[in-house]
Amino acid sequence: MFHQPRKRFGQNFLVDETVLDNIIAAIHPKSEQNVVEIGPGLGALTKKLLPLLNKLHAVELDRDLIPKLKTSCADLGELIIHQQDALKFDFASVIQNKQKLRIVGNLPYNISTPLLFHLLTFAPYIQDMYFMLQKEVAHRLASVPDNKTYGRLSVMVQYYCAAEILFDVSAAAFNPKPKVDSAFIRLAPYGRPPYPANNFDLFAELVTTAFTQRRKTIRNALGAFISAESLETLDISPTLRPENLTVEQFVRIANQC
Ligand code: SAM
Repeated sequence: MFHQPRKRFGQNFLVDETVLDNIIAAIHPKSEQNVVEIGPGLGALTKKLLPLLNKLHAVELDRDLIPKLKTSCADLGELIIHQQDALKFDFASVIQNKQKLRIVGNLPYNISTPLLFHLLTFAPYIQDMYFMLQKEVAHRLASVPDNKTYGRLSVMVQYYCAAEILFDVSAAAFNPKPKVDSAFIRLAPYGRPPYPANNFDLFAELVTTAFTQRRKTIRNALGAFISAESLETLDISPTLRPENLTVEQFVRIANQC
């Protein structure tokens, strides 16, 4: 069944069998696990996951794809399709017997950042997440202090999760070929954030403010939140720049404000 890929839904379908097999090996799904796939598309990944699981939830926005997906996955296992926007999907609604979710997907790159922030609100319900992302975004997520790629996304994601790049994937693995390379990443939420913020909204605002002025020293970038003297009291040099601070240091500052 022919499907004209839709740009507005970020439809770049995975066609490289080796990459697909590497993804399955990395996820290593077990039959009784509660797995949710975001954006199954024509089922490249779904067809490999389904036979390994008792059931699989799939969240797909493009309703035209669903009959094709059903046909290609017929007889492979129990596929529960939620024809919904993953940005609005209530991931807690598919929890059963308090079993945490494993969430996977070759994500539509145009919505990957808001989607990650939506998913982080479900962090306590999630065992782990495996995503194909634009390479640059994946590397920002997993970046560590003192790097140009370290920024708001790194701090906010790493507040909740351990992040690890598993492998890079060239644009040639997709049809149509995207303009950018990709990377496959694992995000594993901590049972509880290791450095909890007393006021999460304040912490998030502070991190955003810091990185909108990333070339300034934190004395200047965070002047509205904390004085240079208080930074010294926290044992954090006011002359550091936002990209030098660890997640723990951002939380330490927020908890002092
Ligand atoms: N998993 C397939 C593959 O690897 O070949 C398709 C991946 S394609 C990059 C992204 C998929 O996400 C498409 O099927 C697209 O229709 C779907 N999608 C786009 N926006 C979505 C949204 N907001 N919620 C759920 N699915 C979405």
